[in-house]
Amino acid sequence: MMRRIYYHKDSKRGARRTWEWLAEEVKELGEAIEAGDERAMEAEFADVLAWLASLANVVGVDLEKAFLAKYPGRCPKCGRAVCMCATG
Ligand SMILES: [Zn+2]
Repeated sequence: MMRRIYYHKDSKRGARRTWEWLAEEVKELGEAIEAGDERAMEAEFADVLAWLASLANVVGVDLEKAFLAKYPGRCPKCGRAVCMCATG
C-alpha cells in the first residue's frame, strides 16, 4: 500500500533522507511516550510504521516478507508460539 501511494516520491527522496524522516518520527514517538499522550502515541506509531515501510520500499526490501521470514508466528530464538526465552 505504501509503495502504491508514495513510491514515486520516496524513490526521488532516496534512502538517506527517508531514513532521516524515520529517525525523526521515532524521536517524536519517544516524546509522545514520555509525555504519556495516548493520541500522540497512536499518531506517531502510525508515522513510524509508514516511514519504515517507505524506507524498505526505497531500498528494495519487501517488509512484510522479511518480517514474516524472521517472525513466522513464533519466537525465532526458542521457536515457541509464546516466547520462553530467559531474557529479552
Ligand atoms: Zn523466545
